[in-house]
Amino acid sequence: MGGTNARRAEIAANLERVRERVDAACAAAGRAPEEVRVIAVTKNHPASDVRILAELGLRDVGENRDQEAAGKAAECGDLDLTWHFVGQLQTNKARSVARYADMVHSVDRGRLVAELARRARNEGRELGCLVQVNLDPDSERGLIGPRGGVDPADVPALADAVAAEEGLSLGGVMAVAPRGSDPEPAFDRLYSVAADLRARYPRATVISAGMSGDLEAAIRRGATHLRIGTALLGDRVAIVG
Ligand SMILES: *Cc1c(COP(=O)(O)O)cnc(C)c1O
Repeated sequence: MGGTNARRAEIAANLERVRERVDAACAAAGRAPEEVRVIAVTKNHPASDVRILAELGLRDVGENRDQEAAGKAAECGDLDLTWHFVGQLQTNKARSVARYADMVHSVDRGRLVAELARRARNEGRELGCLVQVNLDPDSERGLIGPRGGVDPADVPALADAVAAEEGLSLGGVMAVAPRGSDPEPAFDRLYSVAADLRARYPRATVISAGMSGDLEAAIRRGATHLRIGTALLGDRVAIVG
C-alpha cells in the first residue's frame, strides 16, 4: 500500500500544479476557471490511477484506445465517472465505445457517425460527439500522411450528420495543435470554426483543445475542455493487458 500512497501523493501534487496553471491562464484571459473542464487522459496508466484521480475529485477520464478504455471503464464501474474517447476510432470499435463512452471527441467521418448512432440507440444511450478538426496546414496540402480530423470546410456537413442522428448529440469541436509550431494560430482557427458551428447549433459549446504542453494557449483561445495526460500522470509506461 506504500506504493499506492506514494502514487497518490504524486498525482495530487500534479493535479494541484495543473489547477494552478488553469487558474492562472483563466485569470490572464479574463475567464472563470469553472468554464474550463480538465479531462485526465489516462492512456497507458492503470485503473488504480483513475481511482486516485476520482478520489481527488477529477471525474472526467479520457482514453484513446478502445480495448484499454473498455477494461478500465469496467474496473471503475463503481465510480461515477465521465468517459471521453479521444483517439482515432475504427468503425468496428463503435459498438464497444458506445457502451461506456459519454463523449467521443474524434468524430471524423460520416460512416463513423452512422455506426456510433446505431450502436448508441441499441444501448439506449446518448453519446456526445465532437467533430475533430484538422488544423495542420501541411496536411491540408497533402504534405503529411494520415490526418487527424476533417478540414475546417467540412465541419458543417459532418456536424449536420451528427445532429440528424437520434442517439447522438452534437457537443462541439475538438482539435490537436500541429506539432512543432506555435499552437495559437491553430487554436484561433479552431475558435472561429467553433463560433460558426455554434451560430447554427447553439448547444454545441464544447471546444476540446489543449494538452499538457499548450493548455495556456488553448485557454486563451476559448477552450472549454482540456485533455491532460503527462502533466497529471507523468510519462506513460506501457501497461500489460
Ligand atoms: C494523449 C493525448 C492527450 C494528452 O496529451 P499530454 O501531452 O500527455 O497531455 C490529449 N489528447 C489526445 C488526443 C491524446 O491522444
